[in-house]
Amino acid sequence: MSEERLEPSSATQIDWFASSTDRERQLRAEREQSKLPLGPLDVVHVFWLAGMSCDGCSIAVLGATSPPIEQLLSGSIPGAPKIVLHHPVLSVEAGKAFVRNFEMAERNELGVPYVVAFEGSVADERLAAQSGGYWSALGAEEQEDGSHRPIPTADWLGRLAPNAAAVLAVGTCATWGGVPAAAGNPTGSMSVMDYLGSDYRSSYGLPVVNLPGCSPIGDNITETVMTILLFLQGLGPLPEFDELGRPAWLFQSTVHQQCGRAGFYEEGTFAEHYGEKECLVEVGCWGPVVQCNITARGAINHMGGCMNTGGICIGCTMPGFPDRFAPFYKTPPGSTLSSNSSRLVGSFIRPLRRITQEFQNREPGWGATKDVPSGWGHVKRPSVAKRVVHALYERYQFLGSRKPGDSPYTGGGES
Ligand code: SF4
Ligand code: SF4
Repeated sequence: MSEERLEPSSATQIDWFASSTDRERQLRAEREQSKLPLGPLDVVHVFWLAGMSCDGCSIAVLGATSPPIEQLLSGSIPGAPKIVLHHPVLSVEAGKAFVRNFEMAERNELGVPYVVAFEGSVADERLAAQSGGYWSALGAEEQEDGSHRPIPTADWLGRLAPNAAAVLAVGTCATWGGVPAAAGNPTGSMSVMDYLGSDYRSSYGLPVVNLPGCSPIGDNITETVMTILLFLQGLGPLPEFDELGRPAWLFQSTVHQQCGRAGFYEEGTFAEHYGEKECLVEVGCWGPVVQCNITARGAINHMGGCMNTGGICIGCTMPGFPDRFAPFYKTPPGSTLSSNSSRLVGSFIRPLRRITQEFQNREPGWGATKDVPSGWGHVKRPSVAKRVVHALYERYQFLGSRKPGDSPYTGGGES
């Protein structure tokens, strides 16, 4: 490698103390100079706004592992542009320097596309303004009389959404209103979709993308961002969304369809108390009707997730949450019919399965009547009745096929 190649000529021109927006512009120029094999977009800005939120969605995205946020921010995923994140809690910039990035986006001065991620619900700021206050704000702007007015995050959403490449509603408060929009709330909170209206389309033609969950699974957020980025790069198809703007591949199945306790439900065995291993429907689980992938994906790094750790589903990903799922921890009305049907079928199927299980737990050489040579405990020989049932079962199992060990000429067993 020549000395000339080792010289960081363009890097020395970067002002590392400039705002993140300016720094990115300089870095971009440097990258273009060095002709790295990048896609059509090398940088996308993400403006994270927080409305009526608990910051839980921010914490969730920090825990993502597939892909992790670090890879998105460092631009180290092949084919994907680097993300420059402007986040009220995570950004190192503060004050005017931080707000300037938002102002540049509003004036369309970034020179590259940007995405808006909104966490929390959108409060009705007209209600707060009646008493001279505000519900949630970011930065302040000078008024004609020289005073400063906090800028509500709802206003920022209205200002940035029209030119955004995409608007992501992150978490149930942003997607459907969530807890801040529950009955009796004084804030007039609503979802991003309610705020922007059904006619809203981003500059790339997308309606609001909804990523529900309270809090959402971090991987659901970063994976969706990743698929949108690859689409913007022209490297992937537009990901499939359902009629409510949820990523279809993440939210088309119910929790129940992927739950590790579904086998207990199917056999009609139910927990009566928390801490038991069986299906939790009778202690208040709404999983059979709730669209969520947490039991399959886990909460963080494929670990945890409601029923996986003993909790019930209270429907936190659903537009009806929380009011339509109240009161929590009470048996959902529909389960009276469905769980009793499972009980009835299960009472017949379960004993038959246990018989088959008993025989499949024996090596073929042990047959049905030999003792099991285990030093761990005494294994009882199957009763005559069970042997008859199993003989019928096996006859049906090998109907039209050859049982391993049978002679192809005589049809008889070898041992
Ligand atoms: S615990 Fe809930 S989600 Fe799991 S099997 Fe039972 S009802 Fe379905
Ligand atoms: S399983 Fe239910 S309560 Fe748990 S995250 Fe999914 S929707 Fe929310």
